[in-house]
Amino acid sequence: MINLILFGPPGSGKGTQAAKLVEKYNLLHISTGDLFRYEMGNNTPLGLEAKSYIEKGQLVPDSVTIGMLKNKVDANPDVAGYIFDGFPRTINQAEALDNLLAEKDLAVDKLLSLKVEDEEIVKRILHRGKTSGRADDNDAEIIQNRINVYKQETSPVFDYYNKSGKSMLIEGMGDIDEIFGRLDAEVSAI
Ligand code: AMP
Repeated sequence: MINLILFGPPGSGKGTQAAKLVEKYNLLHISTGDLFRYEMGNNTPLGLEAKSYIEKGQLVPDSVTIGMLKNKVDANPDVAGYIFDGFPRTINQAEALDNLLAEKDLAVDKLLSLKVEDEEIVKRILHRGKTSGRADDNDAEIIQNRINVYKQETSPVFDYYNKSGKSMLIEGMGDIDEIFGRLDAEVSAI
């Protein structure tokens, strides 16, 4: 099993790189953002609750997010490993993930954090917003809020895994294949 956390601010290329890692390592990609968008698309109670936070660029409460993530992991036990994308976003979520994996005799192997400048993030998200259909990709104020939330609530998760030497900072500016090469070097070393 290889269990990875793909980390970094919104718009840092986590989804793009996750798809490439899935192709090479056959891991299950779990994106909490994608799971929320699926629920919102189906107007489920979970989707409706999540929507009120997502459209403001705020985090969905841990109680909701952790339960949803746990269901997804529990429903897919026979995999070569997991890529967690957009989760954990709080220390509380990181502790919940560690506990969930420990119950299965598993652990996070590495957290790979894509480093991208703020200016580039806003540019990338607004560009993605032209085709993503995501309301939270089309409003500069919401994007800024997502970046602030990342800095205040999410970035401590890097330090949390760094204590056990699992966090790696990866240059996330440049060509997609070049960035993949940097990630791949870390993953193939596990
Ligand atoms: P993403 O697709 O990862 O950019 O996530 C889109 C939005 O979904 C975020 O701005 C949050 O509102 C919500 N979201 C996704 N993952 C989480 C999480 N792990 N914890 C809380 N909220 C989340």
